[in-house]
Amino acid sequence: MFIVLGVCAVVEHMTAYPVRPDARGAVPRAIVTAGHSPALLIPVVGVARSELRDSFGAARSGHRHAAIDIMAPRGTPAIAAVSGTVLKLYQSGAGGLTVYLVDDEGLTVYYYAHLNAYAAGLRESDHVAAGRVLGYVGTTGNATPNRPHLHFGIEHLPPTREWWKGEAVDPYPILMASGETVGR
Ligand SMILES: [Zn+2]
Repeated sequence: MFIVLGVCAVVEHMTAYPVRPDARGAVPRAIVTAGHSPALLIPVVGVARSELRDSFGAARSGHRHAAIDIMAPRGTPAIAAVSGTVLKLYQSGAGGLTVYLVDDEGLTVYYYAHLNAYAAGLRESDHVAAGRVLGYVGTTGNATPNRPHLHFGIEHLPPTREWWKGEAVDPYPILMASGETVGR
């Protein structure tokens, strides 16, 4: 069960996530491997697992890439991967239009960057169901203009739940294990 996540933060993280049986009584593999709800959605509409590429840890100018880039045409809806609360709508130089979504346990943050636009009416503190459109794929921030994509990060928060202190984990194995495609 420690194959996917080989980082020391996992121990602390595992204590924060009780392994709960799902409705069928089975322990979901996603929880066993990574502490995530089994109902994780691939956060870009129409994208299949087979289209995902692991760009976590790739070299970027001055840093390592702590997320994966999900390529999709500009304007493709980016959706809530899980049920949760919109923690922050934030515009940054590198990330452009970004969304921080925190899950219902308050312990995992899902980060969306380079959005073309936010979904109409989306506000901080909104509770959203999994699959709710948060925004649209684009190239705001430092994304290459002809390479629209969603920069998607998953961060585990410390027990203090300070959202800016999250530790990035690789979304790729999590999505490959349990990510569901939402059709166009
Ligand atoms: Zn990226």
